[in-house]
Amino acid sequence: MSVIYLDNAATTKMDESLLEVYRTYSCDKFYNASAGYVWGVENYKDLEKARKVILEKLGAKKGDIVFTGCATESNNIAIKGCLREGKWEYVFSKGEHPSVFNVAKRLEESGKTVKYVDLKKDGQIDYEKLSGLINEKTRLVSVMFVNNETGAINDLHRISKIVKEKNPKALLHVDAVQGFCKIPFSLSELNIDFLTISAHKFHGPKGVGALYVKNKDGFKSIMLGGGQEFGLRGGTENLAGIMAMAKICEKINVRENYGKVAILKEKMIETLNDPNIRYIKTDSPYICSFSFKGVNGETLMRALENEVVVGTGSACSSKKAGNRVLQEMGFDNDYIKSSIRISFNYNQSVKEIETAGSLILKKYYEILEKVK
Ligand code: PLP
Repeated sequence: MSVIYLDNAATTKMDESLLEVYRTYSCDKFYNASAGYVWGVENYKDLEKARKVILEKLGAKKGDIVFTGCATESNNIAIKGCLREGKWEYVFSKGEHPSVFNVAKRLEESGKTVKYVDLKKDGQIDYEKLSGLINEKTRLVSVMFVNNETGAINDLHRISKIVKEKNPKALLHVDAVQGFCKIPFSLSELNIDFLTISAHKFHGPKGVGALYVKNKDGFKSIMLGGGQEFGLRGGTENLAGIMAMAKICEKINVRENYGKVAILKEKMIETLNDPNIRYIKTDSPYICSFSFKGVNGETLMRALENEVVVGTGSACSSKKAGNRVLQEMGFDNDYIKSSIRISFNYNQSVKEIETAGSLILKKYYEILEKVK
């Protein structure tokens, strides 16, 4: 039996239909998109087409796309590009991915005024507290769309309204890595200044991401180089990766997939319905977090790995102790140590999920028997 992969929030398998486009722009049309000869110019035209595809998928009526190497880079470019001297304040949620949270910590260390928004028990940010933290000195607010560990969805409509009503000049950045091409939303209905995406989270290749920038005026580059990407991200563009990312965006039917994956999550919850197993109720159908009483999550993950692959939280921080996000939500250490993350993709079947759920349950009770 092949392994059932349920760690799609860490990364997804690249869609095989992208291999052809990846090959074309690596081996045939491999020319530098900034080169002045016809082959480079042609490639630049294709790059511009890819930009349009991403903007359309985001529902953006204005603004631009800056291609990057990954979401970590997009987040760093967005936040650090907004920094200014003086008495400015920066607001982050406590649920942010390390690629945002560690930047916030660094700002704090460098003497900037940084404020943090608490999480509620359901994993969403505390909207009232967010409102209380914003004033005329607020320069940037950074709040993620979907939490990568719990699947909690923050209400972007509510957040953009709060931010812009309290300070129309405050900038809003959204890390939408776990939401883009998964949860329906449209930038045309939201007042968002920066938004981060990463191709490998939605069946694109690794090593390519993007940052949506509503208004490039006054935004400062932290990646100085040859002036590529409007001078905001120096470095030769990864055209093969970018074209593959655009292709998968065109292929994905967000609403249809959402419906399919919602059934998978329901099936997993039903299969793991057991008095010893707790589940955090969240809105993203793609991610869920369970806690298995009396068994270490890491032990369960390792015991399962030849049959079912699950995660124990953010892949980037899974080697570090603890889980900051669950802690912020108010869960105790026993709960946190016993938790695993299960995340789906739209190519999986209900049968596969049922099989995986039964294997998880069986393995859990085997380990529980041994540790008793
Ligand atoms: N932001 C979120 C919410 C994520 O889940 C991840 C990856 O897990 C990242 C950022 C970083 O993505 P990348 O691997 O593209 O840098």
